[in-house]
Amino acid sequence: MPLLLARVKMTAFAPSPLEEMMPQLATRMGRAKPSAIMVIAEKAKRLKAEGRDIVSFSIGVPNFLPGEHVYAAAREALAKDSGQYGSNRGSDALVDAFLGHIEALGLMGYKRENVSTGVGAKQILYNLAEALLDEGDEIAFPAPYWTSYLDIAEIVGAKINILPCPPEQHYKLTPAQLDEALARKPRVFLFNNPSNPTGMVYTRDEIVALADVIAKYPDTWIITDDIYNTMVFDGVGYHNFVHVRPELKDRVIFVDSLSKTYGMPGWRVGFIAAPESVAKAVTTLNSNHITSLPEVITAAAVAALSGPQDVPAAKCAEFAVKRDRVYNALISIPGVVCPRPQGAFYAFPDISVAFGKKHNGVAITTDVDFCAALLETKGVACVPGSAFGEPRALRISYSCPDEALDKGMARIVEFFAELT
Ligand code: PLP
Repeated sequence: MPLLLARVKMTAFAPSPLEEMMPQLATRMGRAKPSAIMVIAEKAKRLKAEGRDIVSFSIGVPNFLPGEHVYAAAREALAKDSGQYGSNRGSDALVDAFLGHIEALGLMGYKRENVSTGVGAKQILYNLAEALLDEGDEIAFPAPYWTSYLDIAEIVGAKINILPCPPEQHYKLTPAQLDEALARKPRVFLFNNPSNPTGMVYTRDEIVALADVIAKYPDTWIITDDIYNTMVFDGVGYHNFVHVRPELKDRVIFVDSLSKTYGMPGWRVGFIAAPESVAKAVTTLNSNHITSLPEVITAAAVAALSGPQDVPAAKCAEFAVKRDRVYNALISIPGVVCPRPQGAFYAFPDISVAFGKKHNGVAITTDVDFCAALLETKGVACVPGSAFGEPRALRISYSCPDEALDKGMARIVEFFAELT
C-alpha cells in the first residue's frame, strides 16, 4: 500500500498585502484552517434563513437532550455556586464518575492519576497533540478520518502519515497496513472506533489482530478516540486494544466525551484515561489555558455519567433503526456503494458513480460538485468526503427526526435518478 505523506497547503490565514505591513501571525497559523464541516453547516443555515426548505445531514450532532437529572444537577450547582476556579485535572467527583463510567465499559484498573478532562474531546485531542508531538514528529491515522485530526496535526507541525482505507476494505485498517505504518516508529498512532465519518465498528477479532501488531512496536503512543463507544449496533460490541491486551494500558490513551453519548455537545466535556505521565501532561496544559471546567458543567457531567443510563441506550436503539432507513435508501441507488455502518450516526456512501455526469446541465466531477449541486437543487446538505480524506464519498449525519431523514433520503435518490 503506498504511503501517503500529506502536507496540505493552507491559505485561510495567508496575509493580504495590507496585513503584510502589520505585525505577523505565528507561522503555524499558515497551517490552520476553519473546519470544513462547519463551512457546509453554515451555508445550509444561511439558505434556511433565506426561506429554503433545507434538510441538513451535515453536522455531527446527536439531536437529543440529556435527561432531566442532568439539568437538575446543573440547577442545584448554580444555586450553591462557589464562584471559584476548579481543579486543572477535573474535580474528584468528576474524575471518579468517569472512572465508574469506563469500568462499566470494561476498562478496569485506572486511578484518578490516569484521568484528565477538557473542554470536549476536541480540546483533549489538541492537548494530546501538544503533549506528545514535537514539530516534525510523525503521526499516523487511517483515512477516512475525522477532519480535526488532520487540522490539529497540521497546526502542531507534525509529519502526517495517512493510511488509506477505501470502501473496498470497508473503510477499515488492516493489520498489514498498521504493521507497515508502525515500522516507521511514528510518535503517535491515532485510531477512531466507531468511526466518524464512516460509522464502521471494528469487531473483537479485528481489534485483537490490530492489538497484536501494536504490541510489536513499543515506541508509539496509541490514541483511541472512541467517543461513540455506546452507539454500536447489531451486537458487534465495543472493543478497545486494552480490553484484548491489558498490558497496552501503558501506551494507550482512551479518549471519551459527553457530547454524543449524552446529547451534550454544547456542554463541552471530554476525558482521557491514559498513562499517568500523559494525564499529568494534559492537566499541566489545562493549568496554562482553560484552568478548569466550570462548576455547573462539572455537576451536570457527574450526573450524566453516574445517573440513569436509559437515554444513551434508547438513542442507540433509535439510531440503529435510522441507520437501516438510510442504508436501505442508499443501496437502492444503482452504482452507489455503502459499507454498512454499525455505529455512531453516520453513513459514508461512495457516490463516485455520479462523477462525469450532469445534473440540470451542471457537470459533476468531484464530491464537492456533487454536494454543492445537491444542496442547491434539492436543499440537502451533506459533507464532501474529501473533508475526511476520501474524495469518492460523502458523509450523511442521520441523527435528525425521521420525517426529515426520509425527506432528505428521497431527495438524494431523486437527485441520482435525474443524473444524465
Ligand atoms: N472525535 C470524533 C471522532 C468526533 O466525531 C468528534 C465530534 O464530532 C470529536 C472527537 C469531538 O467531540 P467533542 O464534542 O467532545 O469535542
